[in-house]
Amino acid sequence: MKIHEYQAKELLSRYGIPVDKGFLCTNMDEALKVYSQLPTKSAIIKAQVLIGGRGKAGGVKIVHSEEAYKQRVNDILNMDIKGLPVKKILVGEVVNIASEYYLSLVIDRETKSVLLMLSSEGGMDIEDVSRTKSEKIHRFLIDSPWGVTDFLARRAAFKLFDNLALVQQAADIIKQLYRLLVATDASLIEINPLVLTVEGKLVAIDAKINFDNNALYRHPDIAQLAETNEEEKKEQEAKAKGFSYVHLTGDIGCMVNGAGLAMATMDMIELYGGKPANFLDIGGSSNSNKIVEAMKLLLADKQIQVVLVNIFGGITRCDDVARGLLDAFSTIRTDVPVVVRLTGTNEQEGRKILEGGPFHIAETMEQATRLAVEKVNH
Ligand code: GDP
Ligand code: MN
Repeated sequence: MKIHEYQAKELLSRYGIPVDKGFLCTNMDEALKVYSQLPTKSAIIKAQVLIGGRGKAGGVKIVHSEEAYKQRVNDILNMDIKGLPVKKILVGEVVNIASEYYLSLVIDRETKSVLLMLSSEGGMDIEDVSRTKSEKIHRFLIDSPWGVTDFLARRAAFKLFDNLALVQQAADIIKQLYRLLVATDASLIEINPLVLTVEGKLVAIDAKINFDNNALYRHPDIAQLAETNEEEKKEQEAKAKGFSYVHLTGDIGCMVNGAGLAMATMDMIELYGGKPANFLDIGGSSNSNKIVEAMKLLLADKQIQVVLVNIFGGITRCDDVARGLLDAFSTIRTDVPVVVRLTGTNEQEGRKILEGGPFHIAETMEQATRLAVEKVNH
């Protein structure tokens, strides 16, 4: 789960990490009120969207007059950043930056530990730095029994600074950042940039935090910060109905029982040159309600041009699934072709039941996937 910059800064601040003060606004009136209370004519306006690279996309602007402020607030509130509409902005005083740094904690799967990364090349080009000058990014693995010791924090901080006062500030930030990560079950915390101000203070002026969804039940206060987009809402609804569903970008809707079979079905589609529109595991049971719900879920996606039903009958009997499909299609009206492949327990009976129905029947997985790929655009 992702949260906005303003929410991430609130959490950093709770852990004693210095952040610049910003005010959240959703419209011009609020933004003008904030502006009238700023000590100077200069202000920074930042789009709050759950995606990085806002600066390069024009979603971060510094202004020096009220005129320019109004113009930029208006522009940014009407912007779309990589498909996400800007509904909120963060407005505040401009920080006087002397230099920018990068600081992050992320779970490293390979070593199964938390990885601390820092660089003196912070700012908007950190992705390029990691690609072309990866030696400029310093990495420290954190042993979980000890966490970030004073020694480790200072050793890391010395990679960025040689001034002891700054090393101490950075070490404190690193230690607190790790406490925050552990306490909230975050999977990533990134401060980019962490800046040294002209006044000699380290301040986090941008922050990103991702949380482990599987641990959200332990953190109701964090779970309630979630702002779900349309796709995530769909995935949650599907979950509530007992499905595992992941939306993808292709045009062949898949309805499969079993996660392994669902993965294999998607692979076969790709093998024959098609693109799956989703991963959908409807689980065991052939209950027709479930099939109606799954079909509705698929057909609500306008990208879908063909539905491929691939069922492996074990305890779930193919004749039950077939009856479920017939039932379902007595209420569903659609022009989308539906390819059905049933195998396993009572497959013949199942296919017989489907004869004369609005389905394209296949016997093997290969036939079914080929047929589905052929039906796209036909
Ligand atoms: P991102 O592009 O989405 O990561 O947005 P950031 O919040 O990191 O802002 C991008 C860049 O804008 C930073 O790297 C800074 O160079 C600059 N910036 C952000 N806030 C300030 C500020 O208060 N003062 C100044 N001078 N520059 C800022
Ligand atoms: Mn940033």
